[in-house]
Amino acid sequence: MSAKISFFKSVEQYVDKAASYTDIPRGLVEQIRVCNLVLQIRFPIRVGDDYQVIEAYRVQHSHHRLPTKGGIRYAESVDQDEVMALASLMTYKCALVDVPFGGAKGGIRINPANYTVEQLQNITRRYTTELIKKNFIGPGIDVPAPDYGTGPREMAWILDTYQAFRHGEIDSIGCVTGKPVTQNGIRGRAEATGRGVFYGIRECMSHADDMKKLGLSPGIAGKTIVVQGLGNVGYNAAIISQLEGDAKIIGIAEREGSIHDPKGIDIDKLMAFRKETGSIIGYPGSTHIGGPSAALELECDILIPAALENQITIDNAERIKAKIIAEAANGPITAYADPILLKKGILILPDFYINAGGVTVSYFEWLKNLSHHRFGRIQNRFQHNAFEGILNKVEEMTGKQITKRDRDFLTRGGTELELVNSGLEDTMITSYQQIRETFLQNNKIPDIRTAAFVSSMNKIASDYISMGIFP
Ligand code: NAD
Repeated sequence: MSAKISFFKSVEQYVDKAASYTDIPRGLVEQIRVCNLVLQIRFPIRVGDDYQVIEAYRVQHSHHRLPTKGGIRYAESVDQDEVMALASLMTYKCALVDVPFGGAKGGIRINPANYTVEQLQNITRRYTTELIKKNFIGPGIDVPAPDYGTGPREMAWILDTYQAFRHGEIDSIGCVTGKPVTQNGIRGRAEATGRGVFYGIRECMSHADDMKKLGLSPGIAGKTIVVQGLGNVGYNAAIISQLEGDAKIIGIAEREGSIHDPKGIDIDKLMAFRKETGSIIGYPGSTHIGGPSAALELECDILIPAALENQITIDNAERIKAKIIAEAANGPITAYADPILLKKGILILPDFYINAGGVTVSYFEWLKNLSHHRFGRIQNRFQHNAFEGILNKVEEMTGKQITKRDRDFLTRGGTELELVNSGLEDTMITSYQQIRETFLQNNKIPDIRTAAFVSSMNKIASDYISMGIFP
């Protein structure tokens, strides 16, 4: 068997496996699985004295809920299969964490490092124009967000282009999420995916019975972690696990190779070192152990692949020694490698659960944009006064005075960041509990990924059935 499997086929295999544990009619499983709309785009951009034809895609996987939602990736790996797979994962992800969107994804087949900022802006604006022309973007139609190789800067260009064409459309700022905070973005979005990875791992590790089966004590504190990819998702997952979870990061992989230090690596110091030297190799105290995939094979409690898909295949699956794998990237484990890891007793937290923090906070941003005011603006002062009133009454009835510190704490409304993080934390905890319940309720369901697909597919099927399409 070849180690290679198409990414979309890989997702389809997981879906087929999960479908056998549901009562969803076959035709409806087929409808859930297929991509509803695929847009292939080719457009020219000027590079120096010549032109280059740019290949790009936008796929809307499922219209069972609208708008559709999903990031835009800039990478040389982008092709139709990859974007279809990523769009379909978005559908299962949104349903799983109760974000009321269908799944979508976009991609431009470029290495952003090969272009100037001006050229990247031209490419992004032209791509957005194509989406507008085909009615593939809009706050009620399809709402992009950042993904691999893109960030708030690209989202700001998309918003500006959209607004130039849709001048006066009152909800236009909700046409894209992951925008800079100053451009109608939301605090906490940039680190949301990595933060969600941390909350998800912490929740999973809080179940003592499950941890016992892995030979681990409950809790993330003191556990050893290896991370592949120190980008948006990997960096935030690592630094939050280190600072808020007290976990020990012992291995890191980046494009230039892998490093190991069993005593622990300070992530912020490593980032500063990489900025200065251009590489993680040579970081004081660490050992260079090989190429970008070498760290995946380190002995550790938790492995967080946070770079790209197809990193753990049948070629290296046997050599993986982690007890838990948190798929922070989309599709880092192929469908062929998955059973090998499960046979080894590894607990896999699937991508469409563990990296759902980004779309969850994107949903909060979209809600904020459509409501045209920031969270807390209307009710914070009212709540503050109401709580003051209660505390005054308590003092009057007990004859005891509440300290200023306690009073300030008890009467304050949450900031936007606190509200976002608490909504994210609640989503990751509740969703894991739902997956775990599905897993425990049916003892035939073999693993957490399958349980997550069952939970998600049942919700999507119920949407279709309630539409009256599949009675
Ligand atoms: P990013 O571009 O910010 O970071 C990716 C990092 O991986 C970079 O530092 C890059 O140098 C590194 N990398 C690339 N190839 C590597 C290799 N072979 N070995 C080691 N490191 C390598 O991208 P991101 O936004 O962090 O996305 C990473 C993954 O997370 C992708 O699969 C993406 O689809 C997924 N994801 C991202 C978000 C988000 O909000 N950004 C949300 C959900 C899922």
